[in-house]
Amino acid sequence: MPLPARAEVCVLGAGVMGSTVAYWLARAGLRPLVLERNTGPAMGSSGRNAGRVIQGGNAQHALAVDRFGHDEAQAIYRATLVNRDLLREVTAREGLDETRAPTAKLDLADSEDEALELKRTAEALLADGIEAEWLDLPEARTVFGTDLPDTILGGLYRPGQDMVHSVAYVRGIATAAQRHGADFSFGVNAVSVEPISQNARWRVVTDAGDVVADHVVVALNAWAPTVLPAIAPLITPVRGQLVQTAPVPFRIPHWGLDRGLVYGGQNKDGSLLLGGLRNTVPGRDEHIAVPPGANTPAFSTELAERLGRALPALLPDATGVPIVRAWSGVMAFTPDRCPLVGAWPGSEGLWLMAAFNGHGMPYSQVVPEQMAERIQGGQGSGIPAAFDPARFF
Ligand SMILES: Cc1cc2nc3c(=O)[nH]c(=O)nc-3n(C[C@H](O)[C@H](O)[C@H](O)COP(=O)(O)OP(=O)(O)OC[C@H]3O[C@@H](n4cnc5c(N)ncnc54)[C@H](O)[C@@H]3O)c2cc1C
Repeated sequence: MPLPARAEVCVLGAGVMGSTVAYWLARAGLRPLVLERNTGPAMGSSGRNAGRVIQGGNAQHALAVDRFGHDEAQAIYRATLVNRDLLREVTAREGLDETRAPTAKLDLADSEDEALELKRTAEALLADGIEAEWLDLPEARTVFGTDLPDTILGGLYRPGQDMVHSVAYVRGIATAAQRHGADFSFGVNAVSVEPISQNARWRVVTDAGDVVADHVVVALNAWAPTVLPAIAPLITPVRGQLVQTAPVPFRIPHWGLDRGLVYGGQNKDGSLLLGGLRNTVPGRDEHIAVPPGANTPAFSTELAERLGRALPALLPDATGVPIVRAWSGVMAFTPDRCPLVGAWPGSEGLWLMAAFNGHGMPYSQVVPEQMAERIQGGQGSGIPAAFDPARFF
């Protein structure tokens, strides 16, 4: 199908962010046009993640309070709670319940200073009315659902989390967006976004022709510098890798250790996911190259093997369970580990949702829903101020 020459809103990228903003815009009665270079949605980072829709920002809440002040830290945490509720509402409404499962989260500590950090976070969350509890090792073992190594001191337990099968979920959202009136054009590579003088409109230049739009939403994550070269210095591409086991007979919540440097979760089918260990790789896999046209950096067999070898030490009951799959993807990090979400500074109608620092799912409904509100002239005040791209300019 030829590209339409004109669109009210043109969304670049059909990952979770682009597909979901299209969903909310279409539900509001607009007819957004999504341009995606791949043959379908969820082929970038969104199709390669662990599907952990956790709560809170990248930093544990107590550290976020130290860094951003109480009100902004609370705004970030609250956004992720609103996100959870929206995710549950949308999956139920759009027949996507099969792609989602409820779970909990246990952030584990094997050092005194991390334990202290997690205990402080439990207190800070409770003071903000959010259910959280520090559990010593014996109690942590009871909620974990399987054994934990003796080196663990305990963990921060938070119920009420979710996991999704991210490919099925994002494809489901994209289909729902189309059902509500959004258009998706696949196999279209966006090359640049140029202002059309005077009337605040934009020309999206693609390899399949140009589209003129009143609003353009750049939802290209690690690839956002392709059309906004000015943000290249702000975005560091980082390789993330996951291994997946055969199904196991026990059920565990999301978990993380060493401030999330190694983490895991479990799929609905019982298979375990284990990721991270970037700290064992020179340069922590930051500034990784993603070849032109590729959806992922090169896969590291060595890192995948290291993750597989680490599994029995982390989860003793998983000893001998085979690894059946392993893959890599690209994350986009910013200097302050906060995403870039909001109006492109000084430009009416140009919007950015990118660089989710390996942590996009906790914002994957709330950010697009609030962005859709802003595009329609509303406040969209549910997007934390700390995410405003203007902070760097
Ligand atoms: C291994 C791994 C594990 C992860 N685990 C989790 C997790 O458990 N929980 C969590 O919250 N986050 C996790 N993440 C991060 C999460 O995947 C991202 O934050 C999220 O998917 C970002 O979504 P997005 O829509 O912004 O980006 P993407 O999904 O990357 O979407 C960008 C889209 O833009 C398209 N595109 C690129 N260039 C162009 C162009 N020029 N023209 C048109 N289209 C273009 C791409 O093909 C892609 O579809 C993980 C990431 C990795 C790599």
